[in-house]
Amino acid sequence: SNVGSIQLDQVDLLSLHSFPPCMRKLREHLRSNHHMRHGGRMQFGLFLKGIGLSLEDALQFWRDGFSEKTDAGKFEKNYAYNIRHNYGKEGKRVNYTPYSCLKIIMSSVGPDDAHGCPFRHSDLSHLKQQLLAWNVPVAGINEVAELVSQGHYQLACAKYFQLSHGAQCDEGIIHPNQYFVQSQNVLRA
Ligand code: SF4
Repeated sequence: SNVGSIQLDQVDLLSLHSFPPCMRKLREHLRSNHHMRHGGRMQFGLFLKGIGLSLEDALQFWRDGFSEKTDAGKFEKNYAYNIRHNYGKEGKRVNYTPYSCLKIIMSSVGPDDAHGCPFRHSDLSHLKQQLLAWNVPVAGINEVAELVSQGHYQLACAKYFQLSHGAQCDEGIIHPNQYFVQSQNVLRA
């Protein structure tokens, strides 16, 4: 297991360079909203576990993220159980696995939710604005948008990977944690 291989203070820099769009968006959402609904906490929390964040660091990460609106007592009461549960420390003690792209793409996302796959669940104008804010060149954004409009969400993600890394992801994108590993392989090469 890779638990503990990523430290809490590495998360933000990694989110800029190696998180796939679905997870980078959740990181930004938590920072600006100081809250995240259940669907996002599950999708993002299991991803963070998958990249190697320990349970202790995960609890600290979420406590910090919520702290502006939620005091420590309320956090412990309302949210900590679920985080420990995702690490197999509560309830049936199942060690839950991070969600695949397919599961994320198929998930239902309401108007107040931040989870899901941006290529599938954001409307096209929002997606384009988001990619622009992440410094993707306009020509690249148009290529991504073309794939999205054909329903090729994972190919659009692979295109984004290529544009942001200057290298192909040869295997394609099938899982956010696989995206992360591929990204780290490219950036550390
Ligand atoms: Fe995340 Fe997969 Fe969508 Fe990429 S294709 S943004 S990794 S769910």
